[in-house]
Amino acid sequence: MKITGAKVFVGGPGKNYVTLKIMTDQGVYGLGDATLNNRETLPAAYLNDYLIPNLIGMDPRNSEDIWQFFYRGAYFRRGPIAMAAFAAIDMALWDIKGKLANMPLYQLFGGKSRDGALVYAHATGSDLSDLKDSIRYYIDQGYKAVRVQCGIPGMPTAGYGVAETKGDVANYITDFSGIKPKVEIWDTDRYMRYMPDALMDIRDHFGPDLKILHDVHHRLTPREAAAFAKSVEPVGLYWLEDPTPAEDQDALKMLRQHSTVPVAIGEVFNSVWDCNKLIEQNLIDFIRVSVTYAGGITHVKRIVDLAGLHNVRTGFHGAPSHSPISMAAQAHLNAWAPNFGIQEYLVLGTPECDALFPSDHKLQNGMFQVSDGAGLGVDFDESEAERYHFKAGSHPIVRLEDGTMWDY
Ligand SMILES: [Mg+2]
Repeated sequence: MKITGAKVFVGGPGKNYVTLKIMTDQGVYGLGDATLNNRETLPAAYLNDYLIPNLIGMDPRNSEDIWQFFYRGAYFRRGPIAMAAFAAIDMALWDIKGKLANMPLYQLFGGKSRDGALVYAHATGSDLSDLKDSIRYYIDQGYKAVRVQCGIPGMPTAGYGVAETKGDVANYITDFSGIKPKVEIWDTDRYMRYMPDALMDIRDHFGPDLKILHDVHHRLTPREAAAFAKSVEPVGLYWLEDPTPAEDQDALKMLRQHSTVPVAIGEVFNSVWDCNKLIEQNLIDFIRVSVTYAGGITHVKRIVDLAGLHNVRTGFHGAPSHSPISMAAQAHLNAWAPNFGIQEYLVLGTPECDALFPSDHKLQNGMFQVSDGAGLGVDFDESEAERYHFKAGSHPIVRLEDGTMWDY
């Protein structure tokens, strides 16, 4: 069996999804996602210029050897661009494998470990009252877990994940349009003073059963993160996410010495080598990698197994930049992983997105129901794809009030 060709598509409704389609001499094709948010053309170029010319003629069933060929063969290993490009190939090869076996991917991993996978939604409010409306909106739809982000009184601009307009409680998505980034102004003192009481207010209002998550988005120093984690302990958070910038992994030691609040990190990690210290030293409780940014199913499965040895559970990244192909790959891992925790999930199910990526994966009562179709269980409509073209975007940047650059 041979790979006869591969095509890369860049574009989509509201996002520049980077979709890879690998064709074979037996008519079976596979799909992968290489969407590196706001740097989408780079993995696309890596695929087109270096990887696809080598893929042609390879046996698509040898997904492990092909992964090793590209990873070890690159010499300059790791990094988000290369790992997203490898990830797309790897997802597509697993998709082909599943279709050849006529089985959903979770069966090839070892079958289902659960009936459905718990997901969390993004609740947001420009103030606490709006945030409560937003949480209620998701609870009413059956969600059991929500990430809560709230506007801070006196903060010059909306904080991370916070709706800019009052009343925007349902479909808040950060605007990444344009090559010049939007500037947000951050004030740690105001955040530290306001947020712990706001989180406690939410717990008191909604009771003990709701799973509450909160994302600090890399904004605190090690000492501030330790103090913040200690102050939110009575809230009983499901997790505290990215309390400090992810590069300085020793920063979490101070937090661990002062608090038992569960910590989730890893959405910007690309390989097991970014995760192993945090996992082996019990500095985190949830690992947040995604199949797209961390080298695909083959590599993420290794991270999941390492995490399982140390009682660290999964909480895969699921921002809107992950296409339905990436989310499908994660759904199969979530169905299988013995140490599954939770999945971040934003409803992408617009009619445009459904037309581009037809699929029968489903969300029911806050639980993700994986497709039983062969392979990934998601398709890609090339004629629909012709409607979309690349549009440059950028993450916001963050400055302090005096102009100092800070972490987004
Ligand atoms: Mg996050």
